[in-house]
Amino acid sequence: MSITAPRILVVEDEPSQVEILRFNLHQQGFDVSVAMDGEEGLQAAIEDPPDLILLDWMLPNMSGIEICRKLRRAKETREVPVIMLTARSEERDKIRGLDIGADDYITKPYSIKELIARIHSALRRPTASIVEHKLFVGVIELDLEKHKVMSEGVEIKLGPIEFRLLATLMQNPERVFSREHLLDLVWGISAYLETRTVDVHIGRLRQALATTKGKDQIRTVRGFGYAVNPI
Ligand code: CA
Repeated sequence: MSITAPRILVVEDEPSQVEILRFNLHQQGFDVSVAMDGEEGLQAAIEDPPDLILLDWMLPNMSGIEICRKLRRAKETREVPVIMLTARSEERDKIRGLDIGADDYITKPYSIKELIARIHSALRRPTASIVEHKLFVGVIELDLEKHKVMSEGVEIKLGPIEFRLLATLMQNPERVFSREHLLDLVWGISAYLETRTVDVHIGRLRQALATTKGKDQIRTVRGFGYAVNPI
């Protein structure tokens, strides 16, 4: 992050949304630039990488998904945090979104206060290192395309839920996710499950990862949730 005001690139096609964001972000001391379609957004981000990107899910010319994927591939923008703005009906696409490397999501209509809080937390967070669809945290390597997990060079077999759990945690290393948030991100908002379900699958994930000599990189935050820690 630069020593001047952090610069946020807003990629959003609805003029009213753009104005609300511009006004509020300025008030919070951020520098704001705006792109109103996907192609322009991608180009602006690569030419002059901002400190954070607010990316609308539905955009003309190029979808938010495609932009996010391209941002993660380009060396200029690989590490720039991306917060996706999604409409409620698109929430089930969240998981797909996570697989393409967004750092966080916020559902429209959102409160500006919440958005600002998420921005601050995304700017503080160490970003996952993603190279060619692979995430690396400590000794764990996760391939988002091949759905393959390696720990210290040994392949770890995971069920689909455990894989998505690990991918979610690894995309934001050290960030503590509440059980509710994990249910939402991994199972989808419509899933009517008890938070205990998360504990069960974390248990399985730990067990699978424990088959190598590597230390347990999953951290339990009592009464709250889980995080993955680099060793
Ligand atoms: Ca839109």
